[in-house]
Amino acid sequence: MEKKLLKAFQKVLFTPKKIIIIPHKNPDGDALGSSLALNTFLNKTGHDSCVIAPNEYPEFLNWMPGQEQIKKFSQTPDESTQMIENSDIIFTLDFNQLSRIDQMALVVERSIAEKIMIDHHEHPGDYASISYSDTNKGSTCEMIYELISGLDHDQIDVTIATCLYTGIMTDTGSFRFPSTTAKTHQVVSILIEKGAQPHLIHQKIYDTYSFSRLKLLGTALNNIKKINGIPVVYITLSQKELIINKFKKGDTEGFVNYGLSLRGVSLAVIMIENETEKIIKMSFRSKGSFDVNYFAKKYFNGGGHVNAAGGVSDLTLNETVDQFLKAIAYEKSQFNI
Ligand code: 5GP
Ligand code: MN
Repeated sequence: MEKKLLKAFQKVLFTPKKIIIIPHKNPDGDALGSSLALNTFLNKTGHDSCVIAPNEYPEFLNWMPGQEQIKKFSQTPDESTQMIENSDIIFTLDFNQLSRIDQMALVVERSIAEKIMIDHHEHPGDYASISYSDTNKGSTCEMIYELISGLDHDQIDVTIATCLYTGIMTDTGSFRFPSTTAKTHQVVSILIEKGAQPHLIHQKIYDTYSFSRLKLLGTALNNIKKINGIPVVYITLSQKELIINKFKKGDTEGFVNYGLSLRGVSLAVIMIENETEKIIKMSFRSKGSFDVNYFAKKYFNGGGHVNAAGGVSDLTLNETVDQFLKAIAYEKSQFNI
């Protein structure tokens, strides 16, 4: 990271501060890993820091070191609000628009605390007084590594290393997305030296399917559809199918990637019905030049990265499929076919 930016961090963290760290809603391995690693570092270096997540996180992350101390805004709104109001600094990690933290956004906007954004998504907002934004980085965890390493490298212990390794591994698709660089591997090598155990972390994240989750994957794969003439596949999951397969939060994580494992396919999409929130949640994954960040933003009120993005639709599942098919027909020149 730039020297000037590091100096700005050194300056705000020079004296002990009351700090709140916020990952995005429905936090993933990167959001949670970066928050927990930074939280451990800050508490070790004389600050009073706490992670408040907007809501629940999936079961496959509930082993991460320090996660048991995370507060959930959705469960304790009054206490969380008070903590945010009393804080000197608010870190927002792995997102760059306050809309990504739902009702917490109002509390954060209202607070007089210094706001710091650390994130790797496209099109950062300007709500923070310090923004460490780098869209070339594969994960926020790699950025937190840079920050901690710059501030006090010796503080990186097995807890910090494990949390950072988890986020780097999950956000780079286990080191296979184009965002994986030589630097990523250098960082990961140091994290392993500091005690992160790749095989155990991998097992904890990926080899913990419940029987019903694997059956749900079967349903999703059964529902996959190709679009004639363009290298696109899409998967739908209705609320009924989720219920039959005893859906739990996080169960559909990674399903969309199976579409991209098909030869010649360069865009895979999953559309999942959520009757409680009355939305269809969509995930987009691409290979090559098809820009899903642009696509999700333009058609489905979402965003993310060039090759991985998400969005939402307020229509029914069938209507969403129709809208998607129209949108993709309109954008098909992006596939260079
Ligand atoms: P996923 O498909 O795994 O939920 O998300 C893929 C990427 O897109 C992540 O980097 C995530 O932060 C981002 N993303 C997912 N859903 C949304 C959304 O509704 N809005 C925006 N702006 N980004 C999203
Ligand atoms: Mn991320």
